[in-house]
Amino acid sequence: MKIAFIGLGNMGLPMAKNLIKANFEVIGFDINTKAMDELQLSGGQTANTIAKVVAQVDVVITMLPASQHVENSYLATEGILNSVQPNTLLIDCSTIAPESAKKVADQANQRGFQMLDAPVSGGTAGAINGTLTFMVGGSKEILNQCMSLFQKMGKNIYHAGPNGCGQTVKVCNNMLLGILMLGTSEALKLGIANGMDPKILSEIMSKSSGRNWALEVYNPCPNVMDNTPASNQYQGGFGVDLMLKDLGLATENAMSVGASIPLGELARNMFNLHSKSGNGKLDFSSIFNLLP
Ligand code: NAD
Repeated sequence: MKIAFIGLGNMGLPMAKNLIKANFEVIGFDINTKAMDELQLSGGQTANTIAKVVAQVDVVITMLPASQHVENSYLATEGILNSVQPNTLLIDCSTIAPESAKKVADQANQRGFQMLDAPVSGGTAGAINGTLTFMVGGSKEILNQCMSLFQKMGKNIYHAGPNGCGQTVKVCNNMLLGILMLGTSEALKLGIANGMDPKILSEIMSKSSGRNWALEVYNPCPNVMDNTPASNQYQGGFGVDLMLKDLGLATENAMSVGASIPLGELARNMFNLHSKSGNGKLDFSSIFNLLP
């Protein structure tokens, strides 16, 4: 099976590498040529336009920053829908608005293509280790047919419902993650202000009712855990601007369905402040530093 992989960033590159390791033929594209060089070093091929990359493949996977990148990549004149062979399966793993996912899938379906929205959770470590959680919107039958492909990149693969549902689950999950990262940072800062060792504080809370993923796996305080962005000057990982985008998706979505998300809105405002202070490219756990 030949796979086109578009968007070779913090997540896309390790996901594509796992497909290469599993003996799939992978051809990649990214506007950043360094990312394409890295894919080649890992045994992948590349080409210099989306149209060339998707022309002769069985599956296209996209892992792009936001809705506008996905809509452009699929719907532009030289984009994916106009360049793929009939029967190519289309999978978008980016985190985008559920409305955008439905719009692109509708256009793909009208042209006779099957499309899945399949956003992921698990961070860059999950992408590297092939342990991502996939939340998939679209046909369950199509998902079952390509389950073994997903299993090369992830451990938990869930069907969420029709097109757009994968993104709805992702928006809910990431809103909660943003709130939990802020809450975890606040609790750690309170303990530190009381003279607590943040390692001891984290260890005890991890075995108590305040436990959560931000505390236990992705601790925002430097040097509490090895191999977290916090212990590496907040480099790599999941960018502040990407979290801000996801909290914006939650706000837009809540308005469109008439839901109230007071904590999600507060988190969005705080990540916005942090981004506007020049921290947009740092990992989102750097929100720890916004608190005095
Ligand atoms: P990233 O910014 O590291 O990577 C995005 C890549 O897309 C970049 O290499 C960029 O050059 C490329 N790109 C942008 N526009 C392009 C275009 N038109 N054509 C080809 N390539 C293009 O982002 P990431 O962290 O890899 O995240 C990708 C998606 O996954 C986002 O939607 C994000 O919200 C989501 N996500 C990220 C994480 C994480 O921990 N980083 C976790 C879950 C989900």
